[in-house]
Formats: sequence, structure tokens, C-alpha cells
Amino acid sequence: MNDNETLLALAHPLIALLLAAMFYGAWRHAHRQAQFLFFSVAFSCYASGIFMQVLLWPPWRLANIGLTGVAYACAIFCFARGLAALEGRRLPWVPAVLVLAAMLAVRMASAHDETLFRLRVATTHVAAALVFLLALWQVRHLARGTALERLLFWCVAACTLSLFPRAMLATRPPDQYGYEHLLYWEVMQTSFYLFGIGVAFLMLILTSLRTIASLGQASRRDPLTGMNNRSGLDEFLAACLPRCARYGLIMVDVDHFKQINDRYGHPVGDMVLKRLATVMEQGIRTDDAVGRFGGEEFMVILPDASDDEAKQVAERLRAAAAAQDFSDVAPELRCTVSLGVGSFEQAIPFERAYSTVDERLARAKRLGRNRVVGKEPGWAVRRSSGA
Ligand code: GH3
Ligand code: MG
Ligand code: MG
Repeated sequence: MNDNETLLALAHPLIALLLAAMFYGAWRHAHRQAQFLFFSVAFSCYASGIFMQVLLWPPWRLANIGLTGVAYACAIFCFARGLAALEGRRLPWVPAVLVLAAMLAVRMASAHDETLFRLRVATTHVAAALVFLLALWQVRHLARGTALERLLFWCVAACTLSLFPRAMLATRPPDQYGYEHLLYWEVMQTSFYLFGIGVAFLMLILTSLRTIASLGQASRRDPLTGMNNRSGLDEFLAACLPRCARYGLIMVDVDHFKQINDRYGHPVGDMVLKRLATVMEQGIRTDDAVGRFGGEEFMVILPDASDDEAKQVAERLRAAAAAQDFSDVAPELRCTVSLGVGSFEQAIPFERAYSTVDERLARAKRLGRNRVVGKEPGWAVRRSSGA
């Protein structure tokens, strides 16, 4: 191989190093998602293997074949591990390590004989294909996912399956140990550019889109309870209002919550809020929505619910909260809620509906708490706790 050819051959690992740096940057800046680190290590190891093979370093053939084998094995393992981590899966590491150990054993056993070059190439390719197939099996649901997920899955699958025929391309042993201008090498570089770079960018785009989607979701979630926050409820209202003639609205406020905080401490107060959030979520239908509206206030939206239906739900939530056993949170802790409820035509602005149920909630507090106040004057009925 002359100097120009060597320089040209080095472009290949340099691009792999660039991709490794890109993935490392993504790892540093995208909440340290494990797959980015795995891909970074995979591309670094792959580049190191090619560097060693092209530059013939270390110069002793046995050491060179052994070290390049270890670099390729690490690259294969980390790429497969990263692919599985992309979907939060684990790579079955025992079969993967066995395949790679067998590959290293064949490389070392054939190192003394240059005519066995083709065997080493074929073994490395087949081992990579088998380990990638293991990872692809773990993430096979991507094949039924979004267009981008399907594209990524089939690109990696095509790349993996192409390793089998590519293993056959080392049709003749090189004249001496090292890189020759073989058809194999040409195909190897071209397919690396096409698949490797393509797959790397697809993964970055997919993860970026997922991060953007999860940030959007997080902005609609209350971090303490995991339920809708005000934005989540706004979004639900915007989606449901055009489709329903009327909707029920319930405002829930925890009774004497300040006293709970003062007596047991804020961490216990937080646990009470989480428990009440579960009670609310379990007390509504799947078509309804509930969210944390403020500090210790919840709001429930009931599409198409009449006054009576909304009151029934409110009463059910009140009774469920009063019946909750908080003894595991703090001994002798009791907790009740007061609720304002109403049903409103779609045309009534939300702000008016909100201020109406808020007034009813204030009346429930004035009347002694642990009660539901709805439309009819005097509807409020005192219930004994847990009734
Ligand atoms: P009332 O029966 O009249 O509603 O009395 P209250 O004590 O519940 O009402 P108030 O509005 O005076 O107190 C609400 C308390 O809720 C005050 C605030 O410290 C507490 N709070 C708000 N958000 C949180 C939270 O995220 N965690 C905890 N632990 N407390 C919170
Ligand atoms: Mg309160
Ligand atoms: Mg309050």
C-alpha cells in the first residue's frame, strides 16, 4: 500500500472517530443516555482497530491480530449494547461474549498463517452479524414503530445481513500482511459510509425527537404526583371541549393541609398529596381527566357529565379520600377533602365554570369541610368521615 492509499484508508477510521466524538458530545449533553456512550466507545474501538490494521501497529503480527481483534470485539459488543439500550433493553451478554470469544480464538489460532486471512475476515464478520442479530431481536418492536424507528431497524438489519456476503469478498489473501487494494476493502469502506454514517445519524435524530417529545410531556406533568398539571388539563380541555356538549368540573381542596405540614412535616405532606393523587386517578373513568391544579388542589374534568353525574363522582372521591388509611405515612394521620362541583355547557367559557366551582368549594369549606357543594342551594350534606 503506497502513501496515498494509506492516507485514503485512514479517512475511514477518522470518520468513525468523528462519529465517536459526536456521540460522546450527545452523551454529555443529553442527560447522559447510556446508548450514546456505548456508540461512542463502539466507534472509537472500531477506528482504533482499523488504525492498527492500516498502520501495522504493533508491528508484530501476532500482537497486531490479537489487539485488532479485541478492538473489533469491543466495538461489536458496544454497538449491540447501545442498540439495546436505545430501547431500554439489555443485551443477552453471555451468548454475545461467547461468540466474540470464539472469534478471538479463531483469529489467534490462524494468526501464524497468512493464507488464513480470509478465515479471520469471515469470522469477524459472522461474529458481528450474530451479536447484532441478538441486539436486533431485543429491539424487534422497532419494526412496528414510527416511520423513523422502522427505517432505523431495517437499516441496521440490512447492515447486519450484508456482513454475511461481505465475509466472502476477501477472495484472495494479501501479498503480505496488511491492507491491500482489495474489492473487499472498497466494499467495506463504501458500505461503512452508507450504513454506518446513516445509522449513526438516524439514531441521533430518533433520540433527539424522543427527547423533545418527553420534554413536551414533562411540561404537562406535575413532578410530585406524576399526574397532569395545569398545562396538561388545559390541553385535555382544548381537545375534549369541541367534542362534547357539556362537561362536569370538580375542584378538590385538601382540608387543613397546612396543619398536616406543620404537625408531620412537608415530606409527609408530599406523601399525602401523592396518595390523594392515586385516589383521584382511581376514582374517575378513562375518558375523564384529573390533575394537580395548585399546591393542594386538584381539578377533575368529566366530558359529557350532567350535574348529577358530576356530583356522584365528587361524592365518591370525597368518600374514598376520607376512607384512606394513612397510618403507613404517619400514625393517626387523617385527611379529608372538600369539593366544589358543577356541569357546564360547552359554550360557557372555562374561566366562568372555574370560578363557579371555586365559589362552591369555598362554601364547602365554610360549611365545615369534608363535603361536596354542587348546584342546588342547600345540597351540601354533612357526611361522617369514611361514610
Ligand atoms: P383549608 O382546609 O382551608 O383548605 O386549609 P389548608 O390548611 O389546607 O389551606 P391553606 O391554603 O392555608 O394551606 C395550603 C397549604 O398547602 C399551604 C402550603 O404550604 C401547602 N402546600 C402547597 N403545596 C405543597 C406541596 O407541594 N407539598 C406540601 N407538603 N405542602 C404544600
Ligand atoms: Mg386546603
Ligand atoms: Mg388550597
